Amino acid sequence: MWGRLQTRDRFRKMGLQVEETCPLCGQHAESADHVLIQCNYAQNCWLELNRSLQVTNQVTDLSSVSHGLHKPASNQFRTRVIQCCYTALLYHIWMQRNSSIWHGCIKHYNNIV
Ligand SMILES: [Zn+2]
Repeated sequence: MWGRLQTRDRFRKMGLQVEETCPLCGQHAESADHVLIQCNYAQNCWLELNRSLQVTNQVTDLSSVSHGLHKPASNQFRTRVIQCCYTALLYHIWMQRNSSIWHGCIKHYNNIV
């Protein structure tokens, strides 16, 4: 999934003249890892979600998301809830990234978690 998202670093590698910076923070070069995991906006989302789910998993890179998706919780239902929430958060961070580009606005992370 990561290598297929149409992020600015991929467009630039294709030779397109596009802005380099992350549309969520405007401070770092945009890549899939940055926008979905490492960006301050994404980190606030992950921290808030893990706090809400009472999960101690720290999301710092792709492998920690994968770990959270595949780590069994106390029961199967809880495991599925965490998997759904992680997947939904990836989607919503990506949608906020797109909203920033196309509409010039993003929701506060508390409103998407
Ligand atoms: Zn960023």
